[in-house]
Amino acid sequence: MATQDSTRPGGVSFETDEETRLILDSLDEFIEQEVEPLESELGETWSNPRLRHEDDGRLVGEVVDAMETIRRKSADAGFYAMNLPEDVGGEGVSNVTWYRAKKHVASHGMGLTEFVLAGPEGPKPLLLQAEGEQVEEYLKPAIRGEKSTAFAQTEPGVGSDSPSMQTSAERDGDEWIINGQKQWITNAPYADFVQVFARTTPQEDAGRYGGITCFIVEDDEYELGSMNNAVGMQGLQAELVFDDVRVPEDRVLGQVDAAFYNAMDFLSLGRLELGAEAIGYAENLIETGVEYATDREAFGRPIGKFQGISHKLAKGRAKTYAADAAGLKLAWQMDRGDQAIEESSILKWFATNAFWEVADDVVQVHGGNGLSEDNPFMDHLHVARILRIVEGTDEIQLNTIAKQLGVS
Ligand SMILES: Cc1cc2nc3c(=O)[nH]c(=O)nc-3n(C[C@H](O)[C@H](O)[C@H](O)COP(=O)(O)OP(=O)(O)OC[C@H]3O[C@@H](n4cnc5c(N)ncnc54)[C@H](O)[C@@H]3O)c2cc1C
Repeated sequence: MATQDSTRPGGVSFETDEETRLILDSLDEFIEQEVEPLESELGETWSNPRLRHEDDGRLVGEVVDAMETIRRKSADAGFYAMNLPEDVGGEGVSNVTWYRAKKHVASHGMGLTEFVLAGPEGPKPLLLQAEGEQVEEYLKPAIRGEKSTAFAQTEPGVGSDSPSMQTSAERDGDEWIINGQKQWITNAPYADFVQVFARTTPQEDAGRYGGITCFIVEDDEYELGSMNNAVGMQGLQAELVFDDVRVPEDRVLGQVDAAFYNAMDFLSLGRLELGAEAIGYAENLIETGVEYATDREAFGRPIGKFQGISHKLAKGRAKTYAADAAGLKLAWQMDRGDQAIEESSILKWFATNAFWEVADDVVQVHGGNGLSEDNPFMDHLHVARILRIVEGTDEIQLNTIAKQLGVS
C-alpha cells in the first residue's frame, strides 16, 4: 500500500513515492496498449459525436462495449478500484496515490481514458457498507468491473437541497415499496444496479439529515425515463422512475434512516476525485496551448510571443499548480482520517473554476480553430462547466467555506 512518507519534516512530502511512480508509469502503458487502440478501432464512431449516439442520446452499443472492456481490463490489471480495501478486491492504495492516479489519467486528455479508474459508474465507499450477500452480488463484481452502478439522489424538484427529496420507501412486511423519480443520474442507462436514496421517515420525526435510506435496485426493477443530455456529456445521464417498486429487506445498503450521514462521511472523496480530474484536464489543455502558441504564427512571429497569449497560459499554469497543492494536501489529510470538509470544498471550487478558466483561455489561444467541431476544446469547456455544477455546485462549496469562516 502506497502511503505518504511521514518521516519528512513536518510529516509532509510532495514527492511521488516509488510505488506510486510505478503505478503512474503502468497506467501510461495501459492507456497506450489498451485504450488508444480501442479508440482507433472505433474510428469515427468515437471521434464524431454525431455517430457516437443513438437518436435519443444513448451511446451506441460499440461505445458502451468499449467502456465495459476498458473497465474490466483495468480491473484485471489492478487499477480500476485500487483505492478500495484489499479484502474486497481493491489494492488499498492511499488517497494521495489515488489522487495522483486520477490526475495523471486525466492529463492524457478526455476520451475512453475516463473509464480506466472508477468514476460515477463504479464502486464508491458508500458501497463498502455492503453486507452478507450484497458483497458477492454487488460490491465485488463492481470492483472487478463486471457490473456497473449509479448513485441516484437528484430529483426533478430537488438537487442541492437533497434532504427535501420526494422519493419515498415504505415498509410492507419484509419488503420495501419505492415510489418517486430521479434525474441526471450518471450511467443510469447502462447500470446493472443503482443505489437510490429515498425518504423512509418524515423530516419532522427524523430531522433534516435523518430518515433517508439507501436501497440497491436492479436494472430490471425500475423504469428508465427520458435521457438527460447535458451539452458536452450526451448519453450518460437519464431519469429513473420508481412506480411501486418492491425490493426485499436485504437490499437496504447500510442502516435504515442513516444513508445521509453515511454519504457525508465520503463526501470529500468525490470532491477530491473531481478536483484531480479538473486539474489533469487543465494541465493537458495548457500543454496543447503551449504547442499551438509556439507553432502558430501571426504578424511574423509565434503567437506565444504576444503577452496577451503567453499570460493566458502562464496564469493557467499558476492556477493548476496551486490547485494541485490543494489536492495533495486534501488527500494527505484524508489519509490521516480527517473529514476535511472545508478543504474538499476549497479544492472542488478552485480546481473546477481553474479548469473552466483554462479551457476558455485555451479556446482563445486557438482562435477560430478553438471553436472547430473537429477540435476538442469546446468539449473541454462544456465539461468544465458541468464540473462546476455536479458533486455540489460552486455556490454550495462557497456556502461550506463561508460557514467555516463563521459568516453564514
Ligand atoms: C452531467 C451531470 C451529471 C450528474 N450526475 C448525477 C448523479 O450521478 N447522481 C445524482 O444524484 N445527481 C447527479 N447530477 C445532479 C447534480 O448533482 C445536480 O444538478 C446539482 O446537485 C445541482 O442541483 P440542481 O440541478 O437541482 O440545482 P438547484 O439545487 O436547483 O440549484 C440551482 C442554482 O441555485 C443555487 N443554489 C441552490 N441552493 C443554494 C444555496 N443554499 N445557496 C446558494 N445557492 C444555491 C445552485 O448553486 C444553482 O446555481 C448530475 C448533474 C449533471 C448536470
